[in-house]
Amino acid sequence: MVLILCIGMGWIALLVAFVLGLSACNSFGTVRPSQAPASPGAGPPIAVVTTFSILADIARVVGGDRVIVANLVGPGQDTHTFQPSPSDAGALARADLTIEHGLGFDVWLEKLFVASGSRARRIVATAGIEPFRPEHRTDGAAQKVDEHDAEVDPHVWHDPRLVGQIALTIAEALSARDPANAATYRERANRYVTELNQLDAWIVTRVETVPPSRRALVTNHDSLGYFARRYGFRVVATVLGGVSTEASEPSAAAVAEVIRDIRSAAVPAIFAENVSNPRILARVAQEAGVRVAPPLYTDALDAPGGRADTYVKMMRYNVDVIVEALAAP
Ligand SMILES: [Zn+2]
Repeated sequence: MVLILCIGMGWIALLVAFVLGLSACNSFGTVRPSQAPASPGAGPPIAVVTTFSILADIARVVGGDRVIVANLVGPGQDTHTFQPSPSDAGALARADLTIEHGLGFDVWLEKLFVASGSRARRIVATAGIEPFRPEHRTDGAAQKVDEHDAEVDPHVWHDPRLVGQIALTIAEALSARDPANAATYRERANRYVTELNQLDAWIVTRVETVPPSRRALVTNHDSLGYFARRYGFRVVATVLGGVSTEASEPSAAAVAEVIRDIRSAAVPAIFAENVSNPRILARVAQEAGVRVAPPLYTDALDAPGGRADTYVKMMRYNVDVIVEALAAP
């Protein structure tokens, strides 16, 4: 008798729970998505992994408080030569979405991603961007090479309009993961595109103060090709002679050639970079009789709180350094 009573009470409890559950579903409006859309902002934030600091900044701008971004290659670090650690695999294993740059910049991600067992969706930020293939410089002459043999330049972020494209790509990936907030991601990306267009217009105005004959760049590695193409500069020479910092030390002959190029182009200053060792560049500058400008932030942001800790601040800082170094007599 007692047993039957207990079973009966158990069923009543279950029934009460079911009715309460239904009413809870109705009050939150989340029974069927097709009937009642989830309220924007609902649900846990999206766990995003980015490969380097500039992508992390763009993802945070687009995602706002709907994303938690774990970034692999931090401020001031070199993505070309990055060596992942076991903790990086942990971040990938917990991720919902992984944003890589592509164009040969963060190729180390592939192995790390597989090793982590991550089930995150992977997107390539530069998908749909036509890559720039710089001329190869050999034996003192810039040579056009066959397009398929040419190095692809990954440094697209030095053209703010292409960063706008990346922001829109990220907005679409976040929208696919979290459709309830799609309008928010798209609105944030569009606002950012407006800001980037203003940045682009400001750079055009700043560059106009540099006489065209002085719009010439010499950097450690070939990082400013997109900047040069957009704003009418020539890349006169690069100390490491390629689009990556992985190159071994240049030969004495290559260094002599860079010095000849600097002298013949009559550039007043050459540019060190935050991600690569300026030792050889300083020697080149001394032998060529030119100044070394303050380091540019080419492949990574400044540490948080620094003068170039966001993409937009980085570009403004770089342009000020470039213009002041080249415009001055
Ligand atoms: Zn680089």
